[in-house]
Amino acid sequence: VDVRLRHRVTRVVVERSGVRVLARDAAGTQRTFEGSHAIVTVPLGVLKSGAVSFSPSLPAWKRAAIGRLGFGTFEKVAMRFPEPYWATEHAHIFHLSYPNAMDFPLIVDYFFIEKVPILVAFNTGRHAIALDRKSDGEITSHMLQILRAVQGGPIPKPTRVVITRWGRDPFTRGSYSYIKIGSSPADQDALAAPVAGRLLFAGEASSAARFGYADGAFSTGIREAKRLLRAPRVQLSAS
Ligand SMILES: Cc1cc2nc3c(=O)[nH]c(=O)nc-3n(C[C@H](O)[C@H](O)[C@H](O)COP(=O)(O)OP(=O)(O)OC[C@H]3O[C@@H](n4cnc5c(N)ncnc54)[C@H](O)[C@@H]3O)c2cc1C
Repeated sequence: VDVRLRHRVTRVVVERSGVRVLARDAAGTQRTFEGSHAIVTVPLGVLKSGAVSFSPSLPAWKRAAIGRLGFGTFEKVAMRFPEPYWATEHAHIFHLSYPNAMDFPLIVDYFFIEKVPILVAFNTGRHAIALDRKSDGEITSHMLQILRAVQGGPIPKPTRVVITRWGRDPFTRGSYSYIKIGSSPADQDALAAPVAGRLLFAGEASSAARFGYADGAFSTGIREAKRLLRAPRVQLSAS
């Protein structure tokens, strides 16, 4: 398989004779790829953002499913300290706060788990979306403030802080899909359904059985390979 990395797909054109995929390479040069079919595997967040346009437009039922399904944000903030200054007793530190209940609610103690002096905050929902709007400095000082409140200060300065930015990343626009209020597994099936006999769709959000998981994404690739080849099974190989 001819895999092209560092190409950003911008447009997919479905024609009577096949499909053209327009992309920009790392130098910004436009490239066009042609084939009989295309399998769209960009995350649901990217489909929602409209970063990839389709000609003709995707049918209304497909756009409605993309709009209804949810694509959530899950961001981690990892802090490494010179030493484990905290009393390691449990794998998780829970922080229940009021009035903002989701303010660094869960911090995982990696000294307890892996013997490394690292604390990782798991942040989801509105709290994670709000973090994406803040600078690294603001997030770091806020998490340290929460740690001080929970553990009792003073606490040492972290030697390294790593913050994920799935929500801001133009190639993800979120972390993984969920069935939002108002959507249903029928929307996942609609997302998985081919368009015009030429466009196929794979990726975790198109798996009604295992959305949100790597194996769900993997199995949708197999599903679409079988569909494309009209084969009851496909042989996977590393080459
Ligand atoms: C923080 C986090 C923790 C997770 N933990 C687990 C776990 O413990 N277990 C588990 O099973 N799953 C986990 N998952 C979920 C799992 O990683 C995903 O479900 C899976 O990777 C989705 O695969 P995918 O192929 O659908 O999408 P992706 O892996 O997101 O692949 C989509 C690809 O499309 C590319 N792309 C996007 N836009 C364009 C464009 N315009 N042009 C070209 N390429 C583009 C992206 O760069 C990316 O390579 C986790 C996810 C996150 C975010």
